[in-house]
Amino acid sequence: MGAAGCSALRRSYNVPMERDIERILISRKCISERVSALADSIGETYGADSEGLVIVPILAGSVIFLADLIRCLPFKMKIGLMTVSSYRGKTTSAGESRLIQDLNLDIEDRHVLVVDDILDTGSTLRLVVGELRQRRPASVRICVLLRKRSKAPRDFSVDFVGFDIEDVFVVGYGLDYNDHYRNWPDIGVLKPELYE
Ligand code: 5GP
Ligand code: MG
Repeated sequence: MGAAGCSALRRSYNVPMERDIERILISRKCISERVSALADSIGETYGADSEGLVIVPILAGSVIFLADLIRCLPFKMKIGLMTVSSYRGKTTSAGESRLIQDLNLDIEDRHVLVVDDILDTGSTLRLVVGELRQRRPASVRICVLLRKRSKAPRDFSVDFVGFDIEDVFVVGYGLDYNDHYRNWPDIGVLKPELYE
């Protein structure tokens, strides 16, 4: 379906997401350019080690990022899914992250690249990396699309970062509020009155 088809759908259903977005923080064009540059860095980093690479996206926030990123990566890979819950409908962390669905692949002696939407307090990725390391992978690296620089813990580093952003609650491009807005193509700041 072309762009015209999308506009027609928006009009006829009349449930615009735009009205809930305060401002666009990162446009779809910037996202697309950065995702392809990230894929280049990932390709260079793995080189010959891309053989047998397992990508582990953290569901559900990373789905759109994952789909775009892996289509820029030209080598064979497996994808193992993990689901972690951290926000459960709130914009502030609901305490500890919980593993909802465990990995469905064997990663022993494999290079693993974890892909997540955003690094905020780091509780989600700490949990994930801890779980993965117990399975004796050859290596574990992390790629996040966004990082909240002021909140990200200094003792927890990630290998690939799309954008460092200010400490605002963002939605779109896979990121949700109460499971909405994942399909918004840009990354935008949600109007605070919707969750305050
Ligand atoms: P952390 O565990 O690092 O505190 O939080 C990471 C998870 O919290 C992310 O994977 C994401 O699901 C959620 N999160 C953190 N900040 C935001 C945000 O600004 N917007 C949305 N939609 N989710 C966020
Ligand atoms: Mg998440």
